[in-house]
Amino acid sequence: MDTKIWLSSPHMGGKEQDYINEAFDTNWIAPLGPNVTGFEEDIRHYLGDENFVAALSSGTAAIHLGLILLGVDKDDEVLCQSKTFSASANPIVYLGAKPVFIDSEKDTWNLCPEQLETAIKEKIKKGKKPKAIISVHLYGMPYKVEEIHKIASNYEIPILEDSAESLGSIYKDKKCGTFGDISILSFNGNKIITTSGGGALVTKNENFKKKAVFLATQARDNAVEYLHSNIGYNYRMSNVLAGIGRGQMTVLQDRVIARRKNHEFYRRNLEKFNEISFLEEPDGHFSNRWLTCILTDSNKIREGLRIALEKRNIESRPLWKPMHQQPVFKDADKYLNGVSDELFEKGLCLPSGSNLSDNELDRVLSTIFDYFSA
Ligand SMILES: *Cc1c(COP(=O)(O)O)cnc(C)c1O
Repeated sequence: MDTKIWLSSPHMGGKEQDYINEAFDTNWIAPLGPNVTGFEEDIRHYLGDENFVAALSSGTAAIHLGLILLGVDKDDEVLCQSKTFSASANPIVYLGAKPVFIDSEKDTWNLCPEQLETAIKEKIKKGKKPKAIISVHLYGMPYKVEEIHKIASNYEIPILEDSAESLGSIYKDKKCGTFGDISILSFNGNKIITTSGGGALVTKNENFKKKAVFLATQARDNAVEYLHSNIGYNYRMSNVLAGIGRGQMTVLQDRVIARRKNHEFYRRNLEKFNEISFLEEPDGHFSNRWLTCILTDSNKIREGLRIALEKRNIESRPLWKPMHQQPVFKDADKYLNGVSDELFEKGLCLPSGSNLSDNELDRVLSTIFDYFSA
């Protein structure tokens, strides 16, 4: 059996171990500590010094705290991109609030401005203005930032920007992860850089950062005894894992270059097949190409390719199944135009790790060639 080729696997740069050793040498194994502060500063310098960063245990935890900071409460409605990973939407339910799923447009596969505005107008007419919008830069492709944020500000609804897949992506000279009232990052094992597990909340509001850290460390009031006037969480990043993050931040640019190179490789070699197309970067959109996705002509071809790859021990995956199709969200309200359903039917993510060898990329390619010549 050929060795497994993964969709996206962790890729260490070399410096990570030094930061971890430092944590061991100084016995900073607990959450908090110099690596956590250092990692937050590294992200801040990358994104721009006007941002404040709280390193947390996961991207999901960051979304959860972000929604709390935006005032989302029981029975509130939150508009959420339907085409995404479930972690974007789950924290809405943790808070007893209700997700309302919004379809995508075809240019970036992210939030459709028309569907978004229709939903907002209808909800307001019914007497209930949505409390927040969760918009996602899927697979690293920036959403239509100007259109979406204009709508949000017209109706004065805050945006939680889910940038879990898009660290290193840029929209009109500004980095993804800096657009939301609150933005979140993920450092899960499959993301462009990783701490094995981790996330961050990013905001330009220093009080939001302070409150996020407070809530993430069990909401201990300022007193000698453990005094609590809020429900807290155990969501802070560990100092050991933040050490991995510090090392990873030194290679982020290399990772973006490598993933974009994978994308170019697939595009160059597969464009000749009429049955396959790629998502172009619209003007002003720079994608980190976290995952390279292809759109095929039919579900039959998509499944044929996926199974052919699987037979040669190569992992690929259909594009995210939209949240409005998920059994767990079957009762949620939704505004659809058919785009995310079609993407799910015909789209496939190809192995995209920054550590893929030329041999591995060739193996993926020859499997696809063999499928079409069979
Ligand atoms: C990975 C991911 C998350 C969640 O991040 P975790 O760190 O795994 O909790 C949220 N949203 C999207 C779009 C993701 O891809």
